[in-house]
Amino acid sequence: MFCLVSWKIAMRTVFIILSFVAAVYADTQCVAVGGTCQEDHQPCGAYQSGLCDGAANRKCCVPSASATYCGLVRLITRAEWGARPPTARSTIPTPVDFTFIHHTVGNRCFDQSTCSAQMRNIQGYHMDANGWGDIGYSYCIGEDGYAYEGRGWGVEGAHTYNYNRVSHGISYFGNFNNALPNEKALNAGQQLIDCGVSQNHIKSNYRLLGHRDVSATECPGHLLYDEIRTWPRYG
Ligand SMILES: [Zn+2]
Repeated sequence: MFCLVSWKIAMRTVFIILSFVAAVYADTQCVAVGGTCQEDHQPCGAYQSGLCDGAANRKCCVPSASATYCGLVRLITRAEWGARPPTARSTIPTPVDFTFIHHTVGNRCFDQSTCSAQMRNIQGYHMDANGWGDIGYSYCIGEDGYAYEGRGWGVEGAHTYNYNRVSHGISYFGNFNNALPNEKALNAGQQLIDCGVSQNHIKSNYRLLGHRDVSATECPGHLLYDEIRTWPRYG
């Protein structure tokens, strides 16, 4: 009897040790790029697939030191999406009074590589066809929940005629006349504005408007326009 109990304890110990080794082994590849394997429902700035053993939802969380955030929202910097340098750039007084919401009227995008390609396309169009100094928007929001850095804070954009020196323009990738951006993207837009306020790029008593509030345009799309009218500080 005593022997049987000892044997069971010994086997359990072996099992625990083997599990530990397996867990360490599973993390090896991810550790090589400086990240941690974890289930992808956990908060993480950027996940990389294909680096972790186990279930498909176990992914490598790349350390936040290598990622840029504005408050709670992950920023994809110009270097990350492969921006061309601007040919003209002028700063504006901050904090600004207005925040304008736009849509790009192009394709929606749901991952970093597709949204980054769209940033490069839009920038190319704005610079080469429109003759502007850079991509027109201050930031674009993808349905991966990331904010893509356009001209950034405190720089005059080319998004809202008559208001480019007193506002930032935040644009959603897609056409939102008949659809809404997903929850991730809606949250990211609001978190980006909150960050702009907390970093003093935007006045705390700012006015949030859609492009169509000051111009003859459908922008930011019928459904997205209805949505932002429910956000704090609209009007
Ligand atoms: Zn617009």
